Amino acid sequence: MKAKQRTEITYEAHETTVIRYGRGQSSVYCRQCGIYTANLSVAQASSILSVTPLEMERSIRDGQIHTIDDAIDPLILCGNSIRLLLLGENTDGEAAKLGE
Ligand SMILES: [Zn+2]
Repeated sequence: MKAKQRTEITYEAHETTVIRYGRGQSSVYCRQCGIYTANLSVAQASSILSVTPLEMERSIRDGQIHTIDDAIDPLILCGNSIRLLLLGENTDGEAAKLGE
């Protein structure tokens, strides 16, 4: 009897989001991350993460997205916390999902 041959195909897809900043855009210090990082507006972050303003507000309130304390109006967001969300991690290094 002839042995059956089994072929297994694994497909992986990766998406890369590149965030570019204009000249003269300064970095900000995020106390929660403890590093200097890019600063983003709420509109920029909402666009990058493809979420609604309500989901953004929830993530900010839950601490998944860090705010820069010195800037209240307009609200400035920590680029590193947004990067971690894109990678599926929270600032503790555990898996996280936006809006949950
Ligand atoms: Zn941060």
